[in-house]
Amino acid sequence: MELKIAILSDIHANREALTKVLKDMKGLGITDVYCLGDVVGYGPHPKECLAMVKNLTNTIIAGNHEQAICNPDMNMHMLNHNAQAGVTHALKQLSTDEVAFLSQLPSSLALPDHNIFLVHGSPIEPKTWKYVSTEADAKEALAATTAHLCFIGHTHVPVVFGSINGLFKVLPDVLVLDPNEQYLINVGSVGQPRDGDCRASYGIVEIGENITTFTLRRVFYDIGKTEQEIQEAGLPPFLAERLYSGS
Ligand code: ZN
Repeated sequence: MELKIAILSDIHANREALTKVLKDMKGLGITDVYCLGDVVGYGPHPKECLAMVKNLTNTIIAGNHEQAICNPDMNMHMLNHNAQAGVTHALKQLSTDEVAFLSQLPSSLALPDHNIFLVHGSPIEPKTWKYVSTEADAKEALAATTAHLCFIGHTHVPVVFGSINGLFKVLPDVLVLDPNEQYLINVGSVGQPRDGDCRASYGIVEIGENITTFTLRRVFYDIGKTEQEIQEAGLPPFLAERLYSGS
């Protein structure tokens, strides 16, 4: 059977961005949705975004912001003050049940049927939230998994790294994946992109009988609306400013 899987990461409580991504997904024939964590944090709508994601999929990985929310005493000091403000806001919004739901999410997931590995930061010790930023990081990370495809988020920068062909600096519209090559794929961030492109980012992997492809989707959304919601929630203005520059 042909599979067309949408992979979303780092939604960061940006309801406006997530709504537009869901709209973009409609009519594409998506068969499955995976979420790589950081549904909450930074943004104004953690509760609404969590409900929207739960409605889409059961395949949800925990990110470092989920971890901070579930264990604020232990983890708050690891976050900068903007991130702390997001966690504090989320803790006010989320119910006990919702926090309990977040606390049982896995930090990684292997899907052997599809030869896929899902993790928020890096397959190397998922719970230490390593950043895969350089080609050397990517190489090391890929060596930590045997899966054909390893999907990650965390840096908010979309990128594809292949074990044979290295870094794909400019992604083609549709990247045909070589069955003999292992790939580490960062799908970017729905709610707070940091690659200089302010559009929401997510990925689609299409697994056919003879060919597997990866497509990165970029979606415009109303940043002004999110900015207003950030102000209304009393969150730091920087969290809105960075959305315009995608940084
Ligand atoms: Zn994040």
